[in-house]
Amino acid sequence: MNIILVVMDSVREDHFRPPLPDATRFLDAYSAGCWTVPSAASLLTGMWPQDARAAGLEQDEAAEPLTLADYLSRQGYTCEASWLPSYAHMRRGFGMWADIERDDDNAHVMRAIKRIQSGGDHQFIVLWLFAGHWPYQGLAAIDYPSQVRDFVRRGMPPARPDPPISRAPRIVEQTTQGEPNGREQPEITAEELRVLKEQYREACGATVDRVSAVWREASAHNWAVLVTADHGEQFLEHGEMGHTALAPENIRVPLYARIPDLAPGMRSGIASHVDVAATVMVLGGAGIPAGIPGCDLRETPAARDVYVETGWGLAPDARVTIAADSAAPDARHIEALKAVGYVD
Ligand SMILES: [Zn+2]
Repeated sequence: MNIILVVMDSVREDHFRPPLPDATRFLDAYSAGCWTVPSAASLLTGMWPQDARAAGLEQDEAAEPLTLADYLSRQGYTCEASWLPSYAHMRRGFGMWADIERDDDNAHVMRAIKRIQSGGDHQFIVLWLFAGHWPYQGLAAIDYPSQVRDFVRRGMPPARPDPPISRAPRIVEQTTQGEPNGREQPEITAEELRVLKEQYREACGATVDRVSAVWREASAHNWAVLVTADHGEQFLEHGEMGHTALAPENIRVPLYARIPDLAPGMRSGIASHVDVAATVMVLGGAGIPAGIPGCDLRETPAARDVYVETGWGLAPDARVTIAADSAAPDARHIEALKAVGYVD
């Protein structure tokens, strides 16, 4: 069975509503991190980010988790990726499409489609799409002040829930160790926020089109397809721009699958990135090794805990349990944020 895993960087669950034929849509799916590296670690290893030793910006030289490519190559697979974080232990076993620029989603999609059309068996592709990541790609460039670009690039720590968008709270720059450096950041105006949101919507729309094209081709050639995002994006809903906090907009992710023995339609049950990895392992014939916490997506439980990694040093243990087992995830997220002192 050939398998393609599409990861859409920074695409929110509520901004991804593609018409994907025969898709199973998971209604309650969570990322393993609120930013790229910890989420990628779980998607690629099936482990929680801290267990994969990928919680921070620096590569942990001692980290030796097995990757999906390690598991699948033993089953005779050829494994390729359009892009992965530049951590050796995450890329191990993958042939990288290094000749294409990271942000050139169209070129990556075209290569993926060619690979799918070329026939063969035992192929595994990770297709990482970047249009949804700042700077949002999908709209003609709009000239907004440079301080807005800096603002978004640095992000800001979560301050207060639901601030007035016309006058965002003053913020200080947050280092990856969570230590404020005292530098004030510019405020963002309502108009600037509107423009950024519009650009983001357009970028997500472009991603819907690209994923739909890959989905059609993969379906026609009977590949297994899994589509998710590494995390979402915030626009001051909880006082933050970008993706640096465990807010619902960041950690609820789209998750769609077309795999054997899974009925198309909506599916409840709590799903996590570790399940995406576990399902790839099962589809590839490797089974789920002992110690891997994920489950086959065809067997997602109705109630369980999932973990989401901050990796920014903001939480005392850099790890928060989201008890994702009821119908009110937002309230629980806020409780989790309170528990680690994110919000009052
Ligand atoms: Zn990302």
